[in-house]
Amino acid sequence: MGDKFRQVASKVGPAERDFIALGIATGAILMFVGTGGSVLPMIVRNLRGIGAAPDAMLVNALLLNIALIIFGWRRYRELTQEIAERREAEEAARRLAETDPLTGCLNRRSISPATSRLVESSKLKGQAVAFLMIDLDNFKQVNDLNGHAAGDRILVRMAEQIAMLLPGNALLARLGGDEFACVVPYDAAKPEYIDRFSEKLVDTIPATFDDHGISAQVTVSIGIASTEMIASSASKEFAGGKAQDAEDTVAQALLHKADIAMYQAKKKGKNRFFWFEMPMEKELLLRNEIETGIRQGLLGGEFQPFYEQQIDLETNELVGFEMLARWHSPKLGEVSPEIFIPIAEEIGVITQLSDQLINAALAEAAHWDPRLTLSVNISPVQMRDPWFSQKLLKTLIQHNFPPHRLDLEITESCLHENLGNVRVMITSLKNQGVRISLDDFGTGYSSLSQLRSLPFDRLKIDRSFIQELQNDTANPKLIEAIISLGEGLNLPITAEGIENGRILDTLKQFGQLKGQGYHYGKPESGGDVRRRLQSLGLLKHSGAAADLPILMPADAAEPVSQAG
Ligand code: C2E
Ligand code: CA
Ligand code: CA
Repeated sequence: MGDKFRQVASKVGPAERDFIALGIATGAILMFVGTGGSVLPMIVRNLRGIGAAPDAMLVNALLLNIALIIFGWRRYRELTQEIAERREAEEAARRLAETDPLTGCLNRRSISPATSRLVESSKLKGQAVAFLMIDLDNFKQVNDLNGHAAGDRILVRMAEQIAMLLPGNALLARLGGDEFACVVPYDAAKPEYIDRFSEKLVDTIPATFDDHGISAQVTVSIGIASTEMIASSASKEFAGGKAQDAEDTVAQALLHKADIAMYQAKKKGKNRFFWFEMPMEKELLLRNEIETGIRQGLLGGEFQPFYEQQIDLETNELVGFEMLARWHSPKLGEVSPEIFIPIAEEIGVITQLSDQLINAALAEAAHWDPRLTLSVNISPVQMRDPWFSQKLLKTLIQHNFPPHRLDLEITESCLHENLGNVRVMITSLKNQGVRISLDDFGTGYSSLSQLRSLPFDRLKIDRSFIQELQNDTANPKLIEAIISLGEGLNLPITAEGIENGRILDTLKQFGQLKGQGYHYGKPESGGDVRRRLQSLGLLKHSGAAADLPILMPADAAEPVSQAG
């Protein structure tokens, strides 16, 4: 009977088990009343010596009855307690599964079904629902600078701040890391309501964090999507499908579109909000394609170094080449480095990409006349690596490439990030003989004292200034000023973007410059460079010509060796 009971119990839920135990106890009590009613008086009379003893069977039945009552009652009490405990545990587990332990907000898993429910109930009231994706700006830096404990406190305060501004019927979730989401019902005819709410978030949040002596500048970027944008497409997609699927799709689509709009807010300078618009999605698709393309391209060796000639404008000598990355993606075709370099930086593969290119360029430059230099562009992201200079010097040794033939071009943005580190790095590279040029000079905001405090070897005037010289109305005063600034700092100058003889002639008036640009030809592949150098007698070990200066004819763009 015990096994049987357990079998039955295992098939039934706790509430039903509750009733079975209670039923057994009640049945036993009724039987007790039935049997006990006749047997008990007989027992009492027999004990007092005035009656016959009751039937032994009946006494046993009565005792069994009492045992059953006790057993049933105890079982009932145990079960009730067990059930209460289990309910509590289940409730705690559910709460844990649905909420973010740090902030107590809903979590990523639960926001989707909760959004679906809110969308449904709002629809019945004729309301639209806005999904706001809120992301903290520069939170990683705050975390790195102040530690994770401070970061956590900021997240908690952030959740409190949002919750305070949140309308009563709205949802708040932490999606992970520094990403929050609000789901807010509103009157579809009045989207300004959501604008105002978002404005309030953007305006109030940055002012709030002044915590344990840490005052962190944290702003937010917000992307907004509304059921108004997706109602038609999602219901079309799921015409004939299950209603539940359609609801989940609505929640997913809201999250996806808000995420795209948030990304746009980041891209447009952070600390702002954007509503989702269709073209954003296309842009993101392209970006994702580029991201995947870059990762695959790195594995497939799709990135190639090209080389742009650098000329001494005074002597017309070819003095070296600037290496420029080229990518022909099998899927996307030719992609400009102005597009793929920033993405490679963002997705954290710029070092890998640059290493591939520099290795290939060093292998190529080994064939060149040893007087020719190689310039390479270094991204600010690469300069964050404290081992950058050591790694680079090791690469030079591996290629047996003399450090003085290598010129690193770094932009002013490198200087803003971590001037102290950059100074140490540049100094150690310089001590090994590597040259350092400040690229795109004039476009950044370096102060003169910064420039003076860093041991640069050369300034490269940005091509936007040089190209000014093309216009009839051009005023060369600015270029003159930049050049005399270079002279004042005792730094030689390279002019980039020399597109024609006219620009070249103007520049030549300004004294000793180096220059580069399409006037001398577009950047070329390693093979083309080799052929060019071959014809100039400028390949390594290619004879006496290599010792002669390489002159540019006055009226031709092609550099020629004096011997040729
Ligand atoms: P940058 O360092 O200023 O490179 C010069 C850019 O100007 C190159 O564009 C070059 O093709 C272009 N250029 C040269 N002469 C002329 C001219 O006469 N007229 C005009 N209009 N343009 C000229 P490119 O190759 O598209 O590179 C763009 C930028 O991408 C580079 O600007 C550099 O900042 C970055 N980049 C290229 N390769 C690398 C790389 O390997 N690593 C890193 N970190 N950045 C790179
Ligand atoms: Ca450059
Ligand atoms: Ca440049």
